[in-house]
Amino acid sequence: VEPDPQAGAAVKAADRAHVFHSWSAQGLIDPLAVAGAEGSYFWDYDGNRYLDFTSGLVYTNIGYQHPKVVAAIQEQAGKLATFAPAFAVDVRSEAARLIAERTPGDLDKIFFTNGGAEAVENAVRMARLHTGRHKVLSAFRSYHGATSTAINLTGDPRRWASDTGSAGVVRFWAPFLYRSPFYATTEAEESARALQHLEDTIAFEGPATIAAMILETVPGTAGIMTPPPGYLAGVRAICDKYGIVMVLDEVMAGFGRTGKWFAAEHFDVVPDLMTFAKGVNSGYVPLGGVAISAEIAATFDKRPYPGGLTYSGHPLACAAAVATIQVMEDEKVVEHAAHLGENVIGPALRELAERHPSVGEVRGLGVFWALDLVKNKETREPLVPYNAAGEANAPMAAFGAAAKKNGLWPFINMNRTHVVPACNASEAEVKEGLAALDAALSVADEHTA
Ligand code: PLP
Repeated sequence: VEPDPQAGAAVKAADRAHVFHSWSAQGLIDPLAVAGAEGSYFWDYDGNRYLDFTSGLVYTNIGYQHPKVVAAIQEQAGKLATFAPAFAVDVRSEAARLIAERTPGDLDKIFFTNGGAEAVENAVRMARLHTGRHKVLSAFRSYHGATSTAINLTGDPRRWASDTGSAGVVRFWAPFLYRSPFYATTEAEESARALQHLEDTIAFEGPATIAAMILETVPGTAGIMTPPPGYLAGVRAICDKYGIVMVLDEVMAGFGRTGKWFAAEHFDVVPDLMTFAKGVNSGYVPLGGVAISAEIAATFDKRPYPGGLTYSGHPLACAAAVATIQVMEDEKVVEHAAHLGENVIGPALRELAERHPSVGEVRGLGVFWALDLVKNKETREPLVPYNAAGEANAPMAAFGAAAKKNGLWPFINMNRTHVVPACNASEAEVKEGLAALDAALSVADEHTA
C-alpha cells in the first residue's frame, strides 16, 4: 500500500476536532491514524506496518479482514441487514445454536447484547431476579466493563471515578500467587486460603443477601492470573452451598483465547451464567451475550424477563458470529491457539524471563500471556507503581516506544505487557513479534536495579 501522509493528516485532524476518545484526557492524546489491517498486521498512512500483539482490545481472535467473515457480513447485508429482536431470524437462531453447542454444561439459552458490559449488566439482572437477592461479589484485579453495574463490579482503577458505592457490590481477593494477598507460598496454599477468604466474606456479608459472584475465568486486563488447581471448583461448591449464582465472565478469555472454546473447560467447572463478547465474531460487528443455565432460564419461562436491547441479536453481528465459528472450526483455530501457547509462546517467554532482569514472572496459556515487569526479581517490586501516570510511568512508556520502533504493537497495562496476538497468528508471525519484544525488554532492563 502506497503511503499517503496527507490523507493520514486529514484523518487525524478530523479525529482531533470531533472524536471524543475513551479513557483519555482529550487534549493529551495523539491517536495513530490507521490506513488498513489484514491478518495479524495493521499499517498507518506513513508506510509503517505493525504486528498486532494486542488483537485490538484482545478481540480480533481470527485477525483482521478474514475474507470469509467479511463475505458473510456482506451477504447478510444484501439479504436482511437488520430485524427487530422479537422475531425469529435464521441467522440469529443459528448463531445461538452454534454458541450454545460450545458453552459448557447446560448453558443452552443465549441472550444477545451489543458487547461485554451489557452482557454483565444482564447477567447480574438475571441473578438478582432468580435469587430475589441484591448483592454481587466481585474480585479485585478484574475488569467487567464500563456501564453502571459493570464498572462498579470492576476491580481496577477505572472504577474509581464512577464508583457510586450503591450498586450492591462486595469485593474480594482472588488468587494470584506471584503477588499473593494471602502470604501463600504454594499454589495449593493460595487456592485454599483464597477459598477460605471468599467463604469468610460471604459469612460476614450474609449469604442470604448475595445474589451472584462474578469472576473472569482467567482474569484478562488485570494480569492473566490463571487460577490455581482447585480454586474454581471450590468457588462452584461455595456458590452451591449458599445458593449464589456463579457468573463466569469469558468476554476476553472465551472463543479460543486460552486454547479451548471457553476457559472454563480447563477447570471443569460449569457456571450458572457465562458472559461473552469480543472473540464470538472477532469483533467485526458488535456482539456479546449471556449463556444461561436451564435452571435460570426456567425462572423466565412464565415470568417475563425485564430487559432488552434494540439490537439484541443483530443479523449482521450474528452472521459474523456464524462465519467466525465456522472459520474457527474449519481452520482449527482453537487447536492452533493451544499449540502456540504450549510450543511457541510459553517456552519463548520463559526463555526471555531467564535473560531479562525486568521480567519477574511469565504466566498464561493459549494466546493469553502476561509478563510481569519488575524493578527487581528478588523483591518483585513492579517496574512502575500501581496506576502510575506521567513521569512515574516512564519505564513502561520507554518499553512501549521501543516495541513500536521495532514494528510491534504491544499490549501494556500498568507494569505488565501481555502477549495476546490473534489465535490464528502463524508461528513465523509470533516469532517475529517475540524477537521485537526481546529487544524492547532490553529497554525495560535499563530501569531495573
Ligand atoms: N468483561 C471482560 C472480562 C472484559 O475484558 C471486557 C472488555 O475488555 C468487558 C467485560 C467489557 O466488554 P465491552 O468493552 O465489550 O463492553
